[in-house]
Amino acid sequence: MLARKYLFPNVIEMNYQAGRRLGVNVYLIDGGDEFLLIDVGYLDTVDEIVELIRKMDFNLSMCKMIIATHADADHIQGIARAKELMKTKVAAHPLTVEPLESGDEIMTYATIKAQDFAIPMPRCKVDIEINEGDVINVGSVKVEVWHTPGHTAGQLAFKMGAQEPKLLFCGDNIYKDSCVGVIDAHHGSHIPDFIQSLKRIIKDDSEFLLPSHGPVFRRDNRIVQKAIDRLTQYQYMADFGTCAIGWPLLDEWEADVLAGRMPEFSKAETR
Ligand SMILES: [Zn+2]
Repeated sequence: MLARKYLFPNVIEMNYQAGRRLGVNVYLIDGGDEFLLIDVGYLDTVDEIVELIRKMDFNLSMCKMIIATHADADHIQGIARAKELMKTKVAAHPLTVEPLESGDEIMTYATIKAQDFAIPMPRCKVDIEINEGDVINVGSVKVEVWHTPGHTAGQLAFKMGAQEPKLLFCGDNIYKDSCVGVIDAHHGSHIPDFIQSLKRIIKDDSEFLLPSHGPVFRRDNRIVQKAIDRLTQYQYMADFGTCAIGWPLLDEWEADVLAGRMPEFSKAETR
């Protein structure tokens, strides 16, 4: 048997457990007589992850469900395979069902044509829809479901607030360096929603944030606020294309054009 490396009571993360980089963070919530997984990563690491779970002496039939935080290939390319290996159920937000069940290559980032990137995206049937306010009982552990749209429309986060320390599995909402999950129109990103999701994290009382990528860290609202400040600016920047909600420069230009005001430097040529 492999010794279980708990990060917190009832929580194991598979990269930390393996002692090597597997990919996305894969959390195992151990409720005693059953467990669940949050994300499962790429197809080529699924067998190893399932084998690790077995070696830690978990009975695979005790897997209550595998939750997709959202439908990005790096999080869920292997979910159909994991479901089959563990004979378990897959849970996701209603807005994540369509890209998961259709294996949508654009929405999941399985194909990025302009970068000559393409990986298979096996379709996966979603058995359970979970949404804001739901509580998932995993043995002795209670997991509250948060719907935190922004990165994608169906992005989920999970609060474990009934025990100490209080934990928030924050998905792709925020990472330790204050970066956030990619903002992309093709992906269903929505900057105003993203800001609201981040504000909710700021108001929360969780002591630790457990993101989908990189290190787990103590909640520091300066990290989250920095992201809110940046995203607030993004809303008015052309850099973010149709994800921006306005572009003040273009409004000023239009006002000049409509008023017949020529640029300052062109005065010499006006007759
Ligand atoms: Zn991600």
